[in-house]
Amino acid sequence: MDHFNFVDGHLHVEHLDVRQIVEQHGSPVYVYSAHTLKNHYSVLKDAFSALSPLICFSVKSCSNLSILKLLVDQGSGLDVVSGGELHRALMAGVTADKIVFAGVGKSREEIRYAVEAGVFLFNVESEGELLRLDEVATTAGKRIKVAIRINPDVADADTPEKTSTGGRQTKFGIPMERAYELFEPKRYSSVDVVGIHIHLGSPIPSAQTYLSAIDKIEDMINRLKATDCAIEFVNIGGGFPAQYGTESNPVGSLTETGALICQRLQGLKQRGIRFIIEPGRSISANAGILLTTVEYIKQGWDRKIAIVDAGMNVLLRPTLYGANHVIWPTHFENLSGHWTAITHSAQLSDVTHLEETDIVGPICETGDHFALGRALPAFDNGSVLAIFSCGAYGMSMASQYNSRGRPPEVLVEGINAKLIRARETHEDLVVHELCGLDNA
Ligand SMILES: *Cc1c(COP(=O)(O)O)cnc(C)c1O
Repeated sequence: MDHFNFVDGHLHVEHLDVRQIVEQHGSPVYVYSAHTLKNHYSVLKDAFSALSPLICFSVKSCSNLSILKLLVDQGSGLDVVSGGELHRALMAGVTADKIVFAGVGKSREEIRYAVEAGVFLFNVESEGELLRLDEVATTAGKRIKVAIRINPDVADADTPEKTSTGGRQTKFGIPMERAYELFEPKRYSSVDVVGIHIHLGSPIPSAQTYLSAIDKIEDMINRLKATDCAIEFVNIGGGFPAQYGTESNPVGSLTETGALICQRLQGLKQRGIRFIIEPGRSISANAGILLTTVEYIKQGWDRKIAIVDAGMNVLLRPTLYGANHVIWPTHFENLSGHWTAITHSAQLSDVTHLEETDIVGPICETGDHFALGRALPAFDNGSVLAIFSCGAYGMSMASQYNSRGRPPEVLVEGINAKLIRARETHEDLVVHELCGLDNA
């Protein structure tokens, strides 16, 4: 469960009224709850405790240094997909033996950096990458461990097309049949192929999807047993769900999914295999919200349009994926309770008057909207709205499009709010271009 609740009609993050955050740090602003991050980490740890996996939080879902550090302090490892993320991971204080490095396009430079840093496991996505890894490791005089990311041709029907990664039509992984020969130890001088990796997409609502892929991995390990290749690690990736609507119970489903996966993997565990999971959104999505202020309300041809101060540059998911986030005024009647209960009960009640409203941003793009025709209670210019479930793929996808600086990030613990990323200024927007001006 997360820590975003209405108290007497005012939204609170943990014990802090969000009004204080906007007063102090302005709008728009991303706000995270430290207790929620810790709670989700421990729910996941418990859900998979039967496997005692190495948990590597997916840095790309939420890459702020303070949040990475908070999770690292809980014992988390980190899953990185670029040299930049590796830099963040090391700055957050994780030891290299808890870092896994994924991604289809690792450059020679990135590989060199990761080999030097002593990254625990490379998740490899092509034969070319394996050869490059071997060459770089040999030059550096190091031995490295590799897991092959296989493409199991398994897709969850309820995973959005743009974030489904386990099917045969995607660029991810190596088709299983082609992968076998790559496990052959003789092929390499400095690489030990010791693992099998999958990441099926995000989110994966059905546990059955994982189980289908795990069956294929088990077959593969059985076939590989006949060769002189020893598989030590199975990495089942991330994609465990978060709560985006007001209906589901993600914590319950996480525990259930974990139990089913653990059960299916018991056989491999008894054979001495160790496990890795790479959760992103299941830890961070419900630990963050975006607060945004209404600039104008206008009447369109046939619709009410509210223009807010955050746009697709701040939160891209609705534009990129058609994602639906619950949006609600941070001040609503006099009710107290969890945000899902408050927004859900108002949707059902005959007392609250709801009006269909478009929530749009200031960016000069038609696709710059957070909701179209959404039933929402009345609010005025200057009202602060909360966009929920924004802790994953929110700030980490933000850009400066339209030359708008990225918003600040604030981490709340109890009644304390800590600025963990400053708002970008106009100077920040141009700093890397001054070199091109004659007089600079
Ligand atoms: C993005 C990604 C994850 C995390 O996915 P979530 O849905 O946020 O859990 C894990 N592993 C890999 C390889 C990824 O690319």
